[in-house]
Amino acid sequence: MLKKSEFSQNADKVSQWLSQFFSELERLPVKSKVKPKEVYRQLPAQAPGSSEAIEDILTDLQQIILPGMTHWQHPNFHAYFPANSSQESVFAEYITSALGAQCMIWDTSPSAAELEQKVLEWLQVEMDIPKSWEGVIQDTASSATLVAILSARERLTGFRSNVEGVPNNLRVYCSIDTHSSIDKAVAIAGIGTRNLIKIPVDKRGRMRTEALEGQIASDLKTGYVPCCVIASIGTTSRVAIDPLDEIANVCLQHQLWLHVDAAFAGTAMLLPECRWICKGLRKADSLVFNPHKWMFTNFDCSAYYVKNVETLLRTFEVLPEYLKTSTRGQVNDYRDWGVPLGRRFRALKLWFVIRSFGMDGIRARLRKHIELTKYFCNCLLEDSRFTLMQEPLLSFSCFRLAPQGMSNREQLNRLNESLLKAINESGEAFLSHTKIEGQYTIRMLTAQTYVEQRHIDKVLSLIKEKADILLQ
Ligand SMILES: *Cc1c(COP(=O)(O)O)cnc(C)c1O
Repeated sequence: MLKKSEFSQNADKVSQWLSQFFSELERLPVKSKVKPKEVYRQLPAQAPGSSEAIEDILTDLQQIILPGMTHWQHPNFHAYFPANSSQESVFAEYITSALGAQCMIWDTSPSAAELEQKVLEWLQVEMDIPKSWEGVIQDTASSATLVAILSARERLTGFRSNVEGVPNNLRVYCSIDTHSSIDKAVAIAGIGTRNLIKIPVDKRGRMRTEALEGQIASDLKTGYVPCCVIASIGTTSRVAIDPLDEIANVCLQHQLWLHVDAAFAGTAMLLPECRWICKGLRKADSLVFNPHKWMFTNFDCSAYYVKNVETLLRTFEVLPEYLKTSTRGQVNDYRDWGVPLGRRFRALKLWFVIRSFGMDGIRARLRKHIELTKYFCNCLLEDSRFTLMQEPLLSFSCFRLAPQGMSNREQLNRLNESLLKAINESGEAFLSHTKIEGQYTIRMLTAQTYVEQRHIDKVLSLIKEKADILLQ
């Protein structure tokens, strides 16, 4: 165990390691190239009996662990959705772990509870989320969606499901392109995935409202009880934006809970010109978006906002004797706002990021990311062998290689699969894929914290170079 007096000496070593990591990051392979068990086999069979020096641990970190990391903070990480970090966020996490507080209730760290309330109020104003809603930080969007579905279930059943168990005829609706966390949440909530009805989408991947209405009407006739709808603002496959306003009207008519999953795209609500994505939000019941995706705050940090906090509290409140406090009712005890009791001090990193970037700085970065996507698409299309699979949206685009004269679907799918493999195996960039109406499609995000035009230029030439080789 290190002595207290050794802190600053060791902290310097860790800082130096990090500083070197950041300066080398661009030259490391984006996607790890290790084979299965390659890391595992290099680790000793037994835990060390006696103390080892921090230098030695850092050496193994460099030599064994680092090669097995896929570098999510690399500016040429364009895959999935980003999980952005930033210097500010790193510093705050460092401090959070040093403080080591359990922020389950106000009493266990008043600053954590009050800072959480304040930073979420700040974001609420900046994003034009209705004033009467209240926010809480959850670990992930998956947890936030589970919280929404449980709240919906309790509201509908008069808070009896918590006590008596769940009726087997509740129904939840989402589009066929909705994130897998909804299937999981419906299963955990005891509603049964059989009762999760996936609504078809239009050509742009958006839930078809009239199909939703039809499904609800037929469920009502056959004895089911519609409970909740999840609208996706930015699906994982292709950032499709469900027509929230129309869906909200259907939910109001049938008094269904409407939860908005804006895990990635929600950050764009900070930009007035992008607020159209959440038109109709006022009529919904809850919203989640992930600062840990596109708001420069490292994983994990999900912002969950809810219209009626009383429903949330009644769903999750437990009050054992050892947690009774005299401040109850005057302050927010966040353990009643979600699933776990214990909570990390996540508000600190949001506070660091918001203050050090400034809202102007955050907005400027988001706008730059959106510009970079336009730039990427324009440059890509200069090469007539490529086509976009839909209009670019925010910092997302998707494309495929489709040279003239090649129209066989299977052949094109294989070609694009090979192209993606060649790009990713180069280690120079990392992109991922989806299928749009059976067509293999390459996804591209330009939403890395430190991405610049030169990184986009690099990936463009990489894509074209690999296409040349494949088509030779
Ligand atoms: C990423 C994502 C999620 C899951 O986010 P976690 O925070 O990892 O649980 C859910 N929904 C959508 C639309 C996403 O993009």
